Amino acid sequence: MTKRLLGRLMYGKRYNRVPWGQRVYVRPGERLIREVQWKRLIRSAPIMPLAEYERIRELGEIEEFLSCMMCGESRQQPLFEPTGGNGWRYHVVRCPSCGFLYRNPNVRPERLGDLYATGYNSFLTGKYAANRQRRYDLTMKAFSPVFDEGKERRLLDFGSGVGLFLELAEQRGFEAFGVDLSPESVAQANERLSRAKTFHGAPEDVPEIAAGGFDVITLWSVLAHLPRPLDDFTKFRSLLAPGGVLLILTVNARSLLLKAYGNAWSGFTKNHLMFYSSQTVPTLLRRTGFAGVAFAPHYGDTIEAGTTALPQDLRRRLRRNVELSDGGNMMRVLAFADEEAIGRWGGGPLTVHRFGT
Ligand SMILES: [Zn+2]
Repeated sequence: MTKRLLGRLMYGKRYNRVPWGQRVYVRPGERLIREVQWKRLIRSAPIMPLAEYERIRELGEIEEFLSCMMCGESRQQPLFEPTGGNGWRYHVVRCPSCGFLYRNPNVRPERLGDLYATGYNSFLTGKYAANRQRRYDLTMKAFSPVFDEGKERRLLDFGSGVGLFLELAEQRGFEAFGVDLSPESVAQANERLSRAKTFHGAPEDVPEIAAGGFDVITLWSVLAHLPRPLDDFTKFRSLLAPGGVLLILTVNARSLLLKAYGNAWSGFTKNHLMFYSSQTVPTLLRRTGFAGVAFAPHYGDTIEAGTTALPQDLRRRLRRNVELSDGGNMMRVLAFADEEAIGRWGGGPLTVHRFGT
């Protein structure tokens, strides 16, 4: 409330017609203010050894303490304590060495099921479905031509839910497969789909998927939910065919909205465990055998789809501020399995960062 009032005082009503999620990107000077605030927060928040951190936090029954999974650093910099409906609450720390943001204490992998109470399934349909499919379309377009033509290409959607993306993939001609941990979602997906197939369980449990040879693997809003990302990505890498790519859509830990709203940031949802950025996701990819990565900035779904019509000058300012801050609210990543993949898909507007050896 105070923040809205402050915004009103600073900017008047001029930006009231801009959707709430985009105002931070279009109000003059706001990017610089938020970036200075963020630097000040990082400078002033204490950094402590893990042992000391463990003493000040209570450990829930399904939880465990972690060190940084990206670089191994054990020291902790507590930053956020998001809360939400039904009383959930967790702590988010920053790794003082590599900047990775993660929930700590985190959830023990074997207790992950406890997070997904019944009802998660119905959350995945309805109005949400239409917005979802629009988001898939926009992201595929951002990485064109990788997803333009699926004929004779194998695709795996990891965490395929009720099959909303697989439906698009089969329409584009992909030989598409999905896996998901929710049996209800898998059943619902298989009703929806004609050629694509989804399975319940982990990839290694399903012979059609364990065989590998995938040209494309997709992770739609899945990465932030993985408690053991290094293990999972090692598996994804082995499932990719030569020349294969992995697509990731996840919340962006460098989002200007996180810098603006802190605990109230939309990326802090009940089931998110880890928060990646263009600075930390390359570590994950390099350590699990990928050859390179490219990013496509996210300007906001309604803006990109044209359903929010901003005046020309504001649209230009939004694009500029997203790009200068690397601070879109979502992060879109294309990971290349090997040099062959970079050679085949790395051209055009995509800038590929190679990891080297
Ligand atoms: Zn780290």
